[in-house]
Amino acid sequence: MNNKEIFNKCSEFHGHKCPGLAIGVRASIEAKRILGIGFSEDEEVVCVTENDACGVDGIQVVLGCSAGKGNLIFRIRGKQAFSFFNRKTGQSVRLILKELPKTESREEKQNYILEAPFDDVFTQMKPNYELPEKARLFQSVDCEICGESTAEPYVRLDNGKKVCLDCFKEYHRV
Ligand SMILES: [Zn+2]
Ligand SMILES: [Zn+2]
Repeated sequence: MNNKEIFNKCSEFHGHKCPGLAIGVRASIEAKRILGIGFSEDEEVVCVTENDACGVDGIQVVLGCSAGKGNLIFRIRGKQAFSFFNRKTGQSVRLILKELPKTESREEKQNYILEAPFDDVFTQMKPNYELPEKARLFQSVDCEICGESTAEPYVRLDNGKKVCLDCFKEYHRV
């Protein structure tokens, strides 16, 4: 499949075609090339996304990095940047979108992102953060106020009671 065909497939999942989706699709295609990776059936490929915009859906479809598998991690900085890690080889790459030509329509912009030479679309560098640890499994604790079961890292102590974040009253003086 060429970039346009991959993009069309992703737009079925995303719901519409937009330049934002094109950014995530192109970044995923380039990450595959640079890291020698394919679709991630388990957690072997990890994406750290620095935004929560349309492009993230392209990454889920092309690379199989998904919220549910724990290999799609949001590190939101409002930047059009994504880092990709190959757990098997330890290789990684961070791609950040370059400034796009200004005068073009949405569709022209979308096509530019998909088809312009790689160096015109992204700056390639090393991620300035480490590969996140694998998704862990945690014990569950029943909240002593609402009774709902909660994974341990999300439990707080409130007057000696184990409570969930919904029942916990934040202490904000510090
Ligand atoms: Zn969109
Ligand atoms: Zn609760």
